[in-house]
Amino acid sequence: MTASATSSSAALAARFDARLMPNYGTPPIALVRGEGRHVWDADGTRYLDLVAGIAVSSLGHAHPALVKAVSDQVATLAHTSNLYVHEREVELAERLTALIGPGGDTARVFFANSGTEANEAALKLVRRAAGTGRHRIVSTVNGFHGRTSGALALTGKPAIRDPFGPFGLDVAFVPYGDTEALRDAVDDTCAAVFVEPTQGEAGIVEAPEGYLGAVRSICDATGAAFVLDEIQSGIGRTGRWFAHQQAGVLPDVLTLAKGLGGGLPIGACVGIGRFATAFAKGDHGSTFGGNPVACAAALAVLDTIEAEGLLDAVTANGGLLARGVTAIGHPLIAGVRGAGLWRGIALTSPEAAGVQSAAAAHGFLVNAVAPDVVRVAPPLTITAGEIGEFTAALPAILRAASDQETT
Ligand SMILES: *Cc1c(COP(=O)(O)O)cnc(C)c1O
Repeated sequence: MTASATSSSAALAARFDARLMPNYGTPPIALVRGEGRHVWDADGTRYLDLVAGIAVSSLGHAHPALVKAVSDQVATLAHTSNLYVHEREVELAERLTALIGPGGDTARVFFANSGTEANEAALKLVRRAAGTGRHRIVSTVNGFHGRTSGALALTGKPAIRDPFGPFGLDVAFVPYGDTEALRDAVDDTCAAVFVEPTQGEAGIVEAPEGYLGAVRSICDATGAAFVLDEIQSGIGRTGRWFAHQQAGVLPDVLTLAKGLGGGLPIGACVGIGRFATAFAKGDHGSTFGGNPVACAAALAVLDTIEAEGLLDAVTANGGLLARGVTAIGHPLIAGVRGAGLWRGIALTSPEAAGVQSAAAAHGFLVNAVAPDVVRVAPPLTITAGEIGEFTAALPAILRAASDQETT
């Protein structure tokens, strides 16, 4: 870290270090404010934000539509609990199910406060639907579904999973993208298959063409539920409302969070067909789930994606980003993966952390999602000009990262 020991960022880091649990390590940058695609740190440095709080701040920072929706709602009615109905949650459920398109007419929604909670709801939902005797779950190696015990049990990353087991859930892991392994693992004792359309936390790892279709047919053949975790990929990130729409495949259960609230905490578990009504009264709940402020934020996100034509912009600007990075032809860059504004820059050696810090020193926030993958997931509102600023700076960033490595 280059900031002096007396900088505001460093002072805050020291306080963080003393009173926050060490699970995150101490982040090197303290952010104080954001506007559009930019954020400022405690020392006054401005960054172009290509992380968006891990694919969350879909409208960027302080978007007027989000500010107004949240401010108006908090001034009107901030919380009701689920003992009372309020219109925002009904409206949001109506909008989300409509966005699914064909097949979504049967869908119903449970609102939670995070991604992991959306997957916990999905887990209970599929087990309720399967009944007793059919409790095995199949998930994928290196997949990520969250940090609470149920979602963690489904997460195929040994480093974060193994210290907390056993989980009391029968989960089998198959290599991601391997149709034959999935076919072998799924039988009529299997309640559900949990899968991401592209593995986000693994480093934007794409499945081979046709994989989601194969998951669909394996689930159809065995009666297992197909749960698609679109917590990171959903709500416009790939240039479609949902990544599965590109594949033309409809899951039984869809989980959402991250970009849905544009920075306000909200998750959703969407059940389709018989999964829409698999929970009976009393089966699940959340005090904060469907909170009016979070729902108002999500409605503002959906409205703004429509009003500003962001799905087309994501496709165009995502292509620009991928082509721009590829065109650099630097030996450290192995390739660019992903779709829309959800990209992994794969490196030829494990220097992603060095690229992340060199990028910050040049005024760009990117994320070392894996030792050899840099994740770029900017606000959906990013402009072609801002992407050009990043691709223009990237050669110097890579040079600085390589220099760090050799000194
Ligand atoms: C982030 C993420 C989660 C967990 O969401 P939280 O809000 O952090 O609980 C689950 N699944 C996927 C695919 C994610 O990217």
